[in-house]
Amino acid sequence: MSVSTQTKSFPITGMHCASCANIISRKLQKMPGVLSAEVNYGTEKAKLVFDEGKVTVAQMNTEIGKLGYALADTSPHAGHDMSSGVSSDKTVQTQKLQELGKLRRHVQIVLPFIAVSILVMIWEVGAEQLQILPMMPATVAEFLHHLLPIFATYTLFVIGLPFLQGVVRFLKFRVANMDTLVGIGTLVAFSYSFILTAFESSLAPYIVTTHSYYDVTIVVIGFITLGKYLEARSKLKTGEAIEKLLNLQAKSAVVLRDGKQVEIPIEQVVVGDVVIIKPGQKIPTDGEIISGASAIDESMITGESLPVDKKVGDTVIGATINKQGSLQVRTTQVGSATLLAQIITMVENAQGSKAPIEKLADQISAVFVPIVLVFAFVVLAAWLGIGSQFIPFSQALPLGIVSFVGVLVIACPCAMGLATPTAVIVGVGKAAQNGILIKNAESLEKLQAVNFMVLDKTGTITKGLPQVTDILPVGKNSSDEVLRLLASLEQYSEHPLAQAVVERAVTEKIALEKVGAFSAIEGKGLKGTIGNKQYYAGNLKLAADLAVTVDEKVINTLAAQGKTPVIIISEKKVLGYVAIADTIKDDAPATIAQLHKQGIQVALLTGDNKKTAKHIADQVGIDRVIAEVLPGDKAKQVQQLQSEGYKVAMVGDGINDAPALATADVGIAMGTGTDVAIESAGITLLGGQIAKLPKAVKLSRATMQTVKQNLFWAFFYNIVGIPIAAGVLYPSFGILLNPAIAGAAMAFSSVSVVVNALRLKRVKL
Ligand code: ADP
Ligand code: MG
Repeated sequence: MSVSTQTKSFPITGMHCASCANIISRKLQKMPGVLSAEVNYGTEKAKLVFDEGKVTVAQMNTEIGKLGYALADTSPHAGHDMSSGVSSDKTVQTQKLQELGKLRRHVQIVLPFIAVSILVMIWEVGAEQLQILPMMPATVAEFLHHLLPIFATYTLFVIGLPFLQGVVRFLKFRVANMDTLVGIGTLVAFSYSFILTAFESSLAPYIVTTHSYYDVTIVVIGFITLGKYLEARSKLKTGEAIEKLLNLQAKSAVVLRDGKQVEIPIEQVVVGDVVIIKPGQKIPTDGEIISGASAIDESMITGESLPVDKKVGDTVIGATINKQGSLQVRTTQVGSATLLAQIITMVENAQGSKAPIEKLADQISAVFVPIVLVFAFVVLAAWLGIGSQFIPFSQALPLGIVSFVGVLVIACPCAMGLATPTAVIVGVGKAAQNGILIKNAESLEKLQAVNFMVLDKTGTITKGLPQVTDILPVGKNSSDEVLRLLASLEQYSEHPLAQAVVERAVTEKIALEKVGAFSAIEGKGLKGTIGNKQYYAGNLKLAADLAVTVDEKVINTLAAQGKTPVIIISEKKVLGYVAIADTIKDDAPATIAQLHKQGIQVALLTGDNKKTAKHIADQVGIDRVIAEVLPGDKAKQVQQLQSEGYKVAMVGDGINDAPALATADVGIAMGTGTDVAIESAGITLLGGQIAKLPKAVKLSRATMQTVKQNLFWAFFYNIVGIPIAAGVLYPSFGILLNPAIAGAAMAFSSVSVVVNALRLKRVKL
């Protein structure tokens, strides 16, 4: 990729159906300089990868503008810039609301038209075919004969304008979408009826001129407009999660400037500012407590309902609530770097991404429209050609027209295009509100199928705050001497074990030595020189590498208690042992039990001693232990399970297990700090809460179930409806799908798909 290659996401306006997404992406992809264009009808956004040197946003906008679409302006000047794209979403939101208002006005006008049309239809059927109603008085019939064409004209040319534009675009650019289908169908019904009315006297000898299809025009456009209105309204609701997150943001902050407290708008807070937060107030932005202590309600971010106690030195998250004490916080992140902004961006991206299951629906709807168009003409021709051999032409023509319109209307693949994205949007949003951040729809889809979870020990099952429990010197060495040597070495290490040792030395007020030639030995320990002696510290593997004999009994006793033994070695001799233990997370046993209930096998994966790992696994109810694994081999262990046929999720801290997270079908990271950009993970559990694992599984299963239900219903309508509309049941049963009913069915199918997706909001996690 060249330097000027850009990846950007733009809101798109003017989309009416899933096939629009296809048209736009194909159009853009054809342009030189556009490397990829992924358009999502659910979120109405386009993810574009393009070469800025070869093509501009304006050019792309012009190109799709011809087809009736537009890229929304996302440049920073469009509003204040809290995080990328946030401000522009506000304008897109207003546009959406305006469009909704227009749809609502149209619906208000067309509903009475529909009511009149349906009453007339019922009366006609009741009087002429079933003979259960009296014939319409001639004056009323005459009145309606003039009224319906007026209604139909308004409905088609004003309310149905987008559909007619679809026809024009089809003629001009040869692109067809759902609007084209409806447009052609209703235009044909209207034109046929108009010709009958206009040339009534000259056509009368050949055809039943009183039976026109103005009512079909009204009802089809009316119902589809009503469907679009309901769909648009529900779609706004699917995106509520983002809005709620946006509303969490603080508007202002009280900062110390020149020793004085001043209240300033949040945009003016800079890194390093000291912010004052009184009890009950919202913490304006991410930072570190420099004075005070308090319990903080982080439920809005992490989903954890209990307040978290924080003191000087602890990090706080913007948008959380300070419950009790007064705090002074030094700002560490502002604007788009804050946790909240990162979460919003991540949720937006995930909602706009495509689930693998959607690709199939996309491919189908891409070929669907042209095929249906051709098929409708074939059906018409069949009625006229074959049908007229059995029935008079004067009957075959209206039946052919009805079938033609019916096929076009029932075949609209709009519900198919909505099936997956609406469920994904609701699922991802709901997850975020529970502190489960999903990077893309693919992870959500894959999690549902996971039947094996591999949990990292440190930080995932244990709290990741180990403490020194035993110091066992060997020979003449004293405890203090052993601790001094080990802590001196460990002060250069980043391992959680190292922290425990150094902390212990600090509390015992032991002065540390300077260490030369320090280096970590992956998965085994570390080494360095003190004075001019070479020292090593680490596990049994390290001792074996150095060919040093250790007291296995000591090691085994410590390990059996769930402690990690560290061996301190110099000049081929063991100087002592230090045992370090980490506490198990309180909710770990219950979580593992829940995962088992969900049919998921669980394994513990660690570089630690087998016995230590076994002890911990037993405590939490894990049956399979994969221990003494070098960091580089963790990914191989995941692969091994995959080759046994399991769908594997790897759960880790994302620091030294990144390759394993990336290798697994789904990588799940425990997010503890204020950083959610854990690259290798598809899912991040905020607040480091392991209890969210079964919740995430439940949500992904519910979401995918909704997707499948939606796809089933969307296909069902089309597969059952098309042949009936074409007239396959007519010869034997005399049944033909009334286009008006087809219109209602299509409207209903889109609405039902969106409403079904919204049901996900109520799934209890
Ligand atoms: P894990 O993340 O599963 O604990 P690591 O690969 O980080 O696995 O560590 C594996 C083992 O190597 C540890 O259990 C410990 O025995 C040893 N080890 C690693 N680093 C250190 C260190 N700094 N000090 C002492 N022992 C260490
Ligand atoms: Mg680790």
